Amino acid sequence: MLRIAIPNKGRLAEETRSLFDQAGLELVARGERALTASLGGVFEAILVRAEDIPEFVADGAADAGITGLDLIAESGRHLESLTDLGFGRCRLSVAATDTSGIREVADIPSGSRVATSFPRSTARFFASASIDVTLVPVSGAAEIAPHLGIADVIVDLVSTGSTLRVNGLHEVATILESSARVVIAGGDSEVSRPPDGRRRAIDDLVSALDSVICARGQRYLMANVHRDRLAEVQAILPGLNGPTVIDVMNGGDMVAVHAVVTAARIYRTISELRAIGAQGILVTRIERLVP
Ligand code: AMP
Repeated sequence: MLRIAIPNKGRLAEETRSLFDQAGLELVARGERALTASLGGVFEAILVRAEDIPEFVADGAADAGITGLDLIAESGRHLESLTDLGFGRCRLSVAATDTSGIREVADIPSGSRVATSFPRSTARFFASASIDVTLVPVSGAAEIAPHLGIADVIVDLVSTGSTLRVNGLHEVATILESSARVVIAGGDSEVSRPPDGRRRAIDDLVSALDSVICARGQRYLMANVHRDRLAEVQAILPGLNGPTVIDVMNGGDMVAVHAVVTAARIYRTISELRAIGAQGILVTRIERLVP
């Protein structure tokens, strides 16, 4: 049975679990503190810290893992990202105090002290900018470091930016845009070339997770319209491959049209369909969508 490493707590844990649930792979742990669980009886999950997942996958302790791109980059391990799951969005940014006068990276003088819990990514970034900095490693709350006088700038994760603002800091540069990824071992190691059957199982898993994510932004719409308005329906409802048209047993003048519509367009689509006399408009969520 393939082993998938998934985050046991933190920002990615809950969304990962609900994604697997919706893909039909319910996570059933053997106890409150169990470190392993069954994923729908198809995979074995190991429940570990998101930070440790790149190591476990690169070393072959897990066949695949779900973790943030920020942590993958920071691990320095060679991993292959199979898909972007779209949640856990944040960016790894350089920030300076509002009173520092620093507006862009070029304003950061060599010799500056940089507080961060991402030392590898930070070192890489400043090396490529040819700025010689001293790293001040912290395990969290880097925002406080400038106020304590132990750093001049920080490198930290930013989501809404409100933590920076309340601490009198502003973003100077983005090092990396992050979100949750499915990863497998990369490169030429034994671990990175799973036998065909295992690779197919991982590809099926990725396709199942993608199908849930793809479905979230879409709705299934059904409506009854007069047959002679079909040309207008086609303009309103492009659908995946154009709308499906089904006969309605009412003497032939009405047809049912079905189409997949992006959730963001539903409001406008309904009003356009009403304007051409559509009736019985029904909109439902889609559980999974494999385009
Ligand atoms: P915000 O105030 O929304 O910009 O969030 C910033 C704070 O949340 C910082 O302390 C970050 O370390 C933390 N943070 C934001 N996004 C993430 C993430 N995706 N994963 C872990 N920590 C995060």
